[in-house]
Amino acid sequence: MSTEDILNGNIRAAARLMRDVEDGVPSFPAEISKLVPHTGRAHIIGITGSPGTGKSTLLDRLIGLMREKEKTVGVVVVDPTSPFTGGAILGDRLRMQRHTTDKGVFIRSLATRDAMGGLSPSTYDIVTILDAMGKDVILIETVGAGQDETRIAELAHTNIVVTIPGTGDGIQAIKAGILESGDIFVINKSDHPGSEMAAADLEAMLGLRTCPEGSWQPPVVLTAALHDRGLKTLLNEIIKHRSYLGDVLWHRHREKQIENRFCDLLRDRLFREIKLMMQDRGHWNPLLESLKEGRTDIHQAVDRVIAHALKSYDPESPE
Ligand code: GDP
Repeated sequence: MSTEDILNGNIRAAARLMRDVEDGVPSFPAEISKLVPHTGRAHIIGITGSPGTGKSTLLDRLIGLMREKEKTVGVVVVDPTSPFTGGAILGDRLRMQRHTTDKGVFIRSLATRDAMGGLSPSTYDIVTILDAMGKDVILIETVGAGQDETRIAELAHTNIVVTIPGTGDGIQAIKAGILESGDIFVINKSDHPGSEMAAADLEAMLGLRTCPEGSWQPPVVLTAALHDRGLKTLLNEIIKHRSYLGDVLWHRHREKQIENRFCDLLRDRLFREIKLMMQDRGHWNPLLESLKEGRTDIHQAVDRVIAHALKSYDPESPE
């Protein structure tokens, strides 16, 4: 199977490359590089919210509405807790299962942590594959728990933050960073009491956000995904946000992605290479021991390791 197959939207070819990405098969970066020139068309939409707020139900309904408009859809469900597929992911898949037989929809679950416990950069690559397949829209579902999410939020053109009425998991639970990154706020389960008040609270909080003149004012949308209410309004807000982005912000977003991607890969590779080098030479464990016993200062150790590693760096040939 070839790049051509993926560009033609071949599901098996795409699934295979996604598996290679997750397994870290050495040939995958070259395969991804061939796809990159064919990307940049998909509207990437992030959906963030605590578990149980109804993200999967919302997604299922949104996919349905998008399919009615004949848009093709890619979905990435990100599980930040475990590198292994867990029960929650299975639940998500079941909720969206009716779409799995639709050739216009591709759903993929993903762990954000790799086997070494580090941040897995796979999300970018999976999104690249979906984009190259020609998906019109790529939805990324996350629970918005950690650092990883900030990067995922930056990856999306449009970020939807989902919350529910009531105190436990309500407005107060939205972290400041998430409040800043949201383009559209959804109060789902609006069939429960207190949704109007939650919307007013959220609007008040958003009022404190500093938005430059002429910039996007994030709307608050009330939905009851389970009962098919408010979803068309949500879709309209998504479409409005896309047209607000226009070509200029869309292009700026792509440039920012390239920068982020480069920085993330460099950081990731540097750490891996240095750690491997130290392990090969038998320096890693003794250094950790020395740190734990207080014989070596952490900052000095980092300075020394970096100074040593950079000795083999040739500034004349940065490429
Ligand atoms: P996720 O963990 O955020 O993906 O949430 P789910 O989509 O799995 O939904 C969690 C639970 O909330 C499920 O039992 C859904 O049926 C239920 N649910 C989702 N949307 C609504 C809604 O609008 N109203 C009510 N009452 N329940 C909902």
